Amino acid sequence: MNKEKIIKAGKIASEVKEYAKSIIKKDMPLLEIAEKIEAKIIELGGKPAFPTNLSINEIAAHFTPSYNDETLASGLLKIDLGVHVDGWLSDTAFSLDLENNQENQKLIEASEKALENAIKISKKNISTSEVGKTIQETIESYEFAPIINLSGHSMEEYELHSGITIPNIDDKKQIFLQEGLYAIEPFATFGNGKVHDGKPSGIYMIIDTKNPRSQIAREVLDFVSEEYQTLPFCSRWIIKKLGTKALFGLKQLENNGNLHHFPQLIETSHSKVAQTENTILIEKDNAIVTTE
Ligand code: MN
Ligand code: MN
Repeated sequence: MNKEKIIKAGKIASEVKEYAKSIIKKDMPLLEIAEKIEAKIIELGGKPAFPTNLSINEIAAHFTPSYNDETLASGLLKIDLGVHVDGWLSDTAFSLDLENNQENQKLIEASEKALENAIKISKKNISTSEVGKTIQETIESYEFAPIINLSGHSMEEYELHSGITIPNIDDKKQIFLQEGLYAIEPFATFGNGKVHDGKPSGIYMIIDTKNPRSQIAREVLDFVSEEYQTLPFCSRWIIKKLGTKALFGLKQLENNGNLHHFPQLIETSHSKVAQTENTILIEKDNAIVTTE
């Protein structure tokens, strides 16, 4: 663990979050929001750890604008962003109500309060199910549901999801937090509390570097291996570098088993979802929230 770089990645994410809150307005193109957030991360000396997720209403996660996207900000917007400094990560999210809607605001408050309560008890040797129980009870106290098949996660160098899961419910598992880096991310919804796969998101991750046949596929694979390593990236970034011909390369890499293509995640009853997330560094005797 490189604590200095972890703290730096968290501080940049926290500054970018404040910047994002200051610029996002209803009807702003999501493409413009994503590009401004990602440019700000670079300006402050980090790199995006994954494509900025800008998910509206019943889309719980994994919506990032495509290179020619025309979607405008509206509804209940979740902004999920990450920073890395030489592979050391931060991952943070907040939700905005762009409609002046009290129900949206209550839902957002439930996810924020759940995160706050979860962070209060998170320390070395506490069980992940205890953290999940706190999240579940807080969200249910607002008479909303936590999303049971989305969860927080441990992180390692260049590894956004490194194996340990922090559930949003009491899953009764006897897994205990150890010293390390974790993201905690309660999702609250009016709906069933479950997500299913939606359309392809345009967000990818390398799963195998076996040699593809075509020239363009190889060019894309070389670029993403070098630039993003094992972190997620999106078609928008690749097109910016290699032009729209890179879309063929991405498709071939997906078919050849080189890439995992993440689907959008949609609440099963098509109800609105709010998310709040912070990164926490757990040490021997204390815990530091790096992203606030
Ligand atoms: Mn996140
Ligand atoms: Mn996360």
